[in-house]
Amino acid sequence: MKTGAMALAGAAAVTRVDAQAPAAAAPAPTGPFTLGALPYAPAALEPHIDAQTMTIHHDRHHKAYVDNLNKALVGAPELQKKTIEELIGGITFLPAEIQKAVQNNGGGHWNHTLFWGLMAAPGAGVGGEGEGTALGAAIVKAFGSFAKFKEKFSDAAMKRFGSGWAWLVVQEDGGLAVVSTGNQDNPLMQGVVPNADRGKPVLALDVWEHAYYLKYQNKRADYVAAWFNVVNWTAANALYEAAVAPPVKKGGK
Ligand code: MN
Repeated sequence: MKTGAMALAGAAAVTRVDAQAPAAAAPAPTGPFTLGALPYAPAALEPHIDAQTMTIHHDRHHKAYVDNLNKALVGAPELQKKTIEELIGGITFLPAEIQKAVQNNGGGHWNHTLFWGLMAAPGAGVGGEGEGTALGAAIVKAFGSFAKFKEKFSDAAMKRFGSGWAWLVVQEDGGLAVVSTGNQDNPLMQGVVPNADRGKPVLALDVWEHAYYLKYQNKRADYVAAWFNVVNWTAANALYEAAVAPPVKKGGK
């Protein structure tokens, strides 16, 4: 019985492949979104994050998000003119048939672009704990100490079941919060993530297995600890200062 069922399944699979073989795949759209280059060599983050992981993560995973985002927008020329922030910030206003594709792939594109820029070669940043930056000071003020922040952020990264991200965000009141999202969701996604988890990200950590499995296998905690050695505090602080800056008044002096 079991063998017969397997043989049947095998025959069905062969038939399906044969039936699809003659159809040529439509060429993938090359825009409106494009994959930017990594801001450093793939080996720059070693030994904490290895070159092979960085290459596969950027050249294949991130590329797939960009390609699939472009595919999702093929029939929507008006949406092709929007920025990635406009698309992912307004997921719930998009046509229902492309919402999920933009949520997953637009989120994937935005999250990874941010992630690459928030890392730098060990020693190239401004110090292991953001010392001397406004963000570093705000972290100590908000969490009591850098160690307490690190514990809370690592905890969020560890407790994210399955795939997702840990974030440090500036919330609407200007305060800092550690949050976590599933899949490729992010704290900009109104109507997708709970309001309590929304804000402007200033740190981002990818905890999908594809981000660490080659080097760390199932040891996510080791990857999270290693990631703190490559945090680009200069870039994170720039995001923080932009997020807390008072809005520019139009027409005033
Ligand atoms: Mn990833």
